[in-house]
Amino acid sequence: MTIVTKDNIILLNEKGRRSDGRKWNELRPISMVVGVLERADGSAIVETGGTKVLAAVYGPKEMYPKHLAMPDRAILRVAYRMTSFSVEERKKPHPSRREIELSKVIKEALEPAVILEEFPRTVIDVYILVLQADGGTRVASINAASLALADAGIPMKGLVTAIAVGRLGNQVIVDLNDVEDKYGNADMPIAYIPSTGEITLFQMDGTMSPDLFDKCLEVAIETLNKIHEMQKEALKRKYLKNKKD
Ligand code: ADP
Repeated sequence: MTIVTKDNIILLNEKGRRSDGRKWNELRPISMVVGVLERADGSAIVETGGTKVLAAVYGPKEMYPKHLAMPDRAILRVAYRMTSFSVEERKKPHPSRREIELSKVIKEALEPAVILEEFPRTVIDVYILVLQADGGTRVASINAASLALADAGIPMKGLVTAIAVGRLGNQVIVDLNDVEDKYGNADMPIAYIPSTGEITLFQMDGTMSPDLFDKCLEVAIETLNKIHEMQKEALKRKYLKNKKD
């Protein structure tokens, strides 16, 4: 079934190919590089097709003002920001409602993995900068931030891995790009800790039948396990390289 947007973008053609030529379950090319900033405690750049995200971690460090500190654990602080040049029309530099909301959503997706009790009275800052946006920036941000936390040596139950799945008509699709996110029938970002099986983020925009929902979840978990392997490889590339140097 061919699905065309009102601007004549072919979302799905008769051969089942998507707007960028991908099959329904095909990921965009993914690149992950750990340790890209010297002055941050941990950092990573994750690129998923046209979406490019930088994450930097500072901490744990003493919390100021002190009354904001927690006596029994560290506080995880997340700031998600889009650069003005990350989208087609210049984005105003001040933080939008969307950026404030996404900062909270990403913090809540990362928090269950981090062993905050190890660092009472401190703060761990996670800065996320979207350099270029083409759909799926929140999931790319979670993948990058979790690598940056690991790079900073923050103890975690496991890496947090994220992907967006969705649907075009009755077709489940994996890793939505910008037009699929805008014109598709449903978009479902999911974050998951593969080593514990916990789902830490689950959102849905659009509608989905129970059968398609089950299929989406199954495909998402399969894909998340693949992305988790890529994250582990990215960490190994940095640490094995350092060992050789
Ligand atoms: P996500 O990036 O996690 O999918 P949204 O669903 O809110 O989050 O956004 C989908 C896409 O819409 C983004 O990835 C980006 O490509 C585009 N977008 C977001 N904000 C803006 C903006 N201010 N101007 C233009 N495009 C935007």
